[in-house]
Amino acid sequence: MNDYDNRYDPRQDRPVNELTPLIDYEDLSRYELTPEEKAYEEMIRRRIRERRRAAERRRIKRNRTVALVILLVIVLVICRSCYASHRKKREEEAGAKVTSSQAEKTAKKKEKADSRAAEPDVTAQPEAPEEAHKMQQVDGLTFVDGILIVNKTYSLPEDYAPGLNTAAEAAFNEMTAAAFNDGLYLYVNSGYRSYDEQYNLYYNYAFERGVAAADMVSSRPGHSEHQAGLCFDVNSTETSFGNTNEAKWLAAHCAEYGFIIRFPKGKEAITGYEYEPWHIRFVGKEIAQDMNAKGQCLEEYLGVTSSYEDAADGLSQQRMAEMLGVTVEDPYGNTNDENTYDDGTQEEQSWDDAGNAGWDNGYGY
Ligand SMILES: [Zn+2]
Repeated sequence: MNDYDNRYDPRQDRPVNELTPLIDYEDLSRYELTPEEKAYEEMIRRRIRERRRAAERRRIKRNRTVALVILLVIVLVICRSCYASHRKKREEEAGAKVTSSQAEKTAKKKEKADSRAAEPDVTAQPEAPEEAHKMQQVDGLTFVDGILIVNKTYSLPEDYAPGLNTAAEAAFNEMTAAAFNDGLYLYVNSGYRSYDEQYNLYYNYAFERGVAAADMVSSRPGHSEHQAGLCFDVNSTETSFGNTNEAKWLAAHCAEYGFIIRFPKGKEAITGYEYEPWHIRFVGKEIAQDMNAKGQCLEEYLGVTSSYEDAADGLSQQRMAEMLGVTVEDPYGNTNDENTYDDGTQEEQSWDDAGNAGWDNGYGY
């Protein structure tokens, strides 16, 4: 045994698992803080105070935001209910038409496969605000508020050949049956017309009388509603038809079957066509009756123009004449005032009041 072995080793006094406190707390309570320690403690306290204030500020800010959101929601709810009651009022004004439109809608859905034409939701119309019209271009067709528009401004593609619209045809048959019950005979003078048929019709007029005269009695190819299969020339295409009981019945009742007199008297400058008491266009009952109530023609109702100058191709009469290889004015030098015919003689088929030639007045629309 040597010295080394007898040496005191403090580690030997302490059992391995026993943790001896390193701080004597009693002693600590009597401890006086140094100025540095006091400053440090003060800094800590200040920080805590600052944090509390910041938290308070955040709480206030959050509460304000919540209050603002609640206020906004309340305003929104009020606006919404105002709008809903406004709309309800308008729908009530529209009256029974709304209910009849539902039946029409289901009937329409059945015939959806029929064509791209009448279908794009003529019944969706009352949902839209009165003034904002929705214009859509679908495969070269133009729909305004879901209604296919064909006039001097808006044309149909050359290859658009849907045939007669079955919904329009069914409505027409229903109408003629009702007219028959009233002792009147209505029949189709002209219904669907293809692009080529319209081309020939227009070309013949233009060849004989020039483009200026042709534009007065016939639609240019692509611009005839007949190509859409949604309209009919009923009975006679003579101006005198307007005085018949059939024409009067048609004007009074066609809206009940979803038709409108497409080119009404007094709207010539807007429709771009002379008055045609025989030409009816299918738009659906609801719209037809709404238009009647408002006294508007289709252009007014949809807020569109009807002018070749506004058309996408914008063909002038001069350009049209060049394309067809014909003249703008009458090749025989006849004018509207002369009441003469091709051979220059006075003719029994004179120009009528509207300045149209006697030949098949307006058949070409
Ligand atoms: Zn027609």
